[in-house]
Amino acid sequence: MTRDMSEAARFGPAAAADAFCGEPPVGLAPRVVNPSLADLLDRHTVPGTLWHVEGGRIRCVACGHRCLIAPGRRGICKVRFNRNGELRVPFGYVSGLAADPVEKKPFFHVYPGRTALTFGMLGCDFHCSYCQNWVTSQALRDETATARIQRVTPQQVVEGARRQNAGLLVSSYNEPLITAEWAVAVFREAKLAGIDCAFVSNGNATPEALDFLRPWLVAYKVDLKTFDDRRYRSLGGTLGHVTETIRMAHNRGLWVEVVTLLVPGFNDTGQELRDIAQFIASVSRNIPWHVTAFHPDYRMTTPPETQAHDLIRAAEIGVEAGLRFVYAGNLPGGVGPWEDTRCPGCGETLVERRGFRVLKRTLTPEDSCPRCGCSIPGVWQKTRVGVTFT
Ligand code: SF4
Repeated sequence: MTRDMSEAARFGPAAAADAFCGEPPVGLAPRVVNPSLADLLDRHTVPGTLWHVEGGRIRCVACGHRCLIAPGRRGICKVRFNRNGELRVPFGYVSGLAADPVEKKPFFHVYPGRTALTFGMLGCDFHCSYCQNWVTSQALRDETATARIQRVTPQQVVEGARRQNAGLLVSSYNEPLITAEWAVAVFREAKLAGIDCAFVSNGNATPEALDFLRPWLVAYKVDLKTFDDRRYRSLGGTLGHVTETIRMAHNRGLWVEVVTLLVPGFNDTGQELRDIAQFIASVSRNIPWHVTAFHPDYRMTTPPETQAHDLIRAAEIGVEAGLRFVYAGNLPGGVGPWEDTRCPGCGETLVERRGFRVLKRTLTPEDSCPRCGCSIPGVWQKTRVGVTFT
């Protein structure tokens, strides 16, 4: 997950911690470390949409784990559960709600310089040891997490976006796939208010979840954390599900941006970065790839911080692989022009940035380079129906 929750507002009553237990296999019965928080969250649920009955149990299809859940049991994410043959899913609260620059998600080709109102719930289907949002994502797995929630309606979230003059409403902070029904309830209201919506996700999606979300989204950000399936499994996912999500989201006409947090010694060899960049380019050379700097966090405190020269090396590998838009993030002012959007045709700087600030924007009203006329893909202006991103 991204680091932007660190500055987000959190509110509501803190729930008490309890004893820790490990991650169980799919569909067995993950216990939670924090029963009082689980009880609280269970009261903020409704019958879900993304599931079906299978042999007396429930198959949840909200994320790639596809948990088969017996009555009285929870899925891997711990926030979706089988109550009397019906899947209950999170609804009607947020754990974080914050107005940020859209660049902080990060989206660099979606309404640059606009505000993104971002909301998140609790829980995750992964357990990354370097999660920067672990207080919310691991709230039901880690006894030291003291997450809080606030009861809200979709209308209240959208009213907040309107008050902030937000150009985008984003589901993030925890993994939004596991709370997709709530996100769609909020996005329905946003659509009525003329506000576009986006997902910031680990990419462990399913075709069913993407079809459910597609009518409400303009953009989908995916973390592609490594190109080594063994390492992906150590984080709680699989490489194949994430690469397939990138392909499926792109094929469904969503604007996709991909982020790789560059962790020294974990995913930063030249070969692995080349594999990642070549995969993205095989889906579309127009997909922006963000390589961002790691700093020690949560349970991953051994690797050193990523240096600027490592980010620049990764960015150059991305360009060599054929990607037309590559960005180096989390070290504002330290990576030269790699924060800017440059024309792939003539090299003209089209959007100049420092960190999350847009300093200058020179795209034409037709979303083209003013110097050579090259068309620049993205969601630069209000959504245009039928646009495809090749
Ligand atoms: S969202 Fe994923 S982890 Fe949670 S119950 Fe459904 S399939 Fe399992």
